[in-house]
Amino acid sequence: PDRIRVGIVGYGNLGRGVETSIGLNPDLELVGVFSRRDPASVETLRPETPVYALDDIASFADRVDVLVLCGGSKSDLPEQTPLLAKQFTVVDSFDTHAKVPEHFAAVDAAAQAGDNVAIISTGWDPGLFSLNRLFGEAILPQGETYTFWGRGLSQGHSDALRRIAGVAGAVQYTLPSETAIERVRAGENPELSTREKHVRECFVVLEDGADAEAIREEIVTMPDYFEPYDTNVHFISADELARDHAGMPHGGFVIRSGETSPGVSQTIEYRLALDSNPEFTSSVLVAYARAAARLAARGERGALTPFDVAPGLLSPKSPEQLRAELL
Ligand code: NDP
Repeated sequence: PDRIRVGIVGYGNLGRGVETSIGLNPDLELVGVFSRRDPASVETLRPETPVYALDDIASFADRVDVLVLCGGSKSDLPEQTPLLAKQFTVVDSFDTHAKVPEHFAAVDAAAQAGDNVAIISTGWDPGLFSLNRLFGEAILPQGETYTFWGRGLSQGHSDALRRIAGVAGAVQYTLPSETAIERVRAGENPELSTREKHVRECFVVLEDGADAEAIREEIVTMPDYFEPYDTNVHFISADELARDHAGMPHGGFVIRSGETSPGVSQTIEYRLALDSNPEFTSSVLVAYARAAARLAARGERGALTPFDVAPGLLSPKSPEQLRAELL
């Protein structure tokens, strides 16, 4: 069968990860990168990858089967996903959990109007973790679900920090509380507040003349991102940021623990340990790009989330092969 033709929109960490991941999937073909920046200024990992101006994307309607949207969740995707879903089949990794319903509605209207498929909030959280929360709840209706992150760098939260005026560079780590994890594993089903489960740690480089106290206040009060957590802000130099905070590890786990009859305890644990959060997230986006292209070819329309996509569609293997090999 013909290869699925993929375009990358936005070339940051995820954009680079998608470029790498397409190289690992022989059924996919990379058409190119579309950037808001001057294409000549964007240096791709593979020199042969073409870079085009995002403004010219409409002329690629017949040359692209699916776009992988790699913009930031805070200000890029709320604008780009609906706009592009009017013209293309798209997937994104929108990760502002509290705004998913709003984003879904905007993308669904656009995708319906354009007769396209749009899969939003793929990745690992939201994404693979969401699926595992769903499995846990559906299979063990009497129980509790827990999600822990880290220790890891959160791209979405780092992105949010970097967009604050006066911030020259920043990273954010999420740390799980060890005591909380042990209580969950022991089947205690504790009630844990958001604040008891994780701590957020920010390392921020200021622009010359920026007001550190005002920026600290803006960070710790940022709704959805930092306000619900205990957030520590450390101001460091650009050299320290480059030396100590260059890697992008992440991970975490989803645990469901419950009882199927009194005293009969059942626990499901799903764990990710990631050397590179963006390379992993991109790998998930690419699998969903395959699913989106197949759904579009079948005539499916509108916005979907990972809950709506049958798992077999993620695999390059045929349903026959999957039944024979993996069932
Ligand atoms: P980046 O900040 O690296 O990139 C975001 C956008 O910024 C790019 O699309 C690019 O657009 C622009 N950009 C990148 N580099 C530069 C540069 N040097 N100068 C100017 N502009 C630049 O974000 P990430 O790729 O790390 O993450 C994107 C989003 O992915 C996050 O906001 C997060 O919400 C989401 N995510 C979701 C996960 C999940 O599990 N669901 C997990 C991890 C991340 P352009 O090329 O058009 O300029």
